[in-house]
Amino acid sequence: MVNGSTTCPHCRQPLAKWEPCAESGWDCDLYYCENNECPYFVKGRQIICETYEKNFAYRYCLNPGTGQETPIVAWCGGDLSLLKGRCS
Ligand SMILES: [Zn+2]
Repeated sequence: MVNGSTTCPHCRQPLAKWEPCAESGWDCDLYYCENNECPYFVKGRQIICETYEKNFAYRYCLNPGTGQETPIVAWCGGDLSLLKGRCS
């Protein structure tokens, strides 16, 4: 269970609240790490870029209701494309 902590265990940044739309399949609010420097995000993105040559990654996500940790897919667009050099 969650013991009141809403910080990312990977980078210690406060988690951002995400209210999923009904179509996403989630029925409650989730918390996710929006830190683009998060090791979890950066490492996952490097692996995907090297393996699949796709420009997306995973962010750390927490279900506050169950305490379950779930990776969510994050497309890397806009400013994030500037980080593309890290993948080569
Ligand atoms: Zn993080």
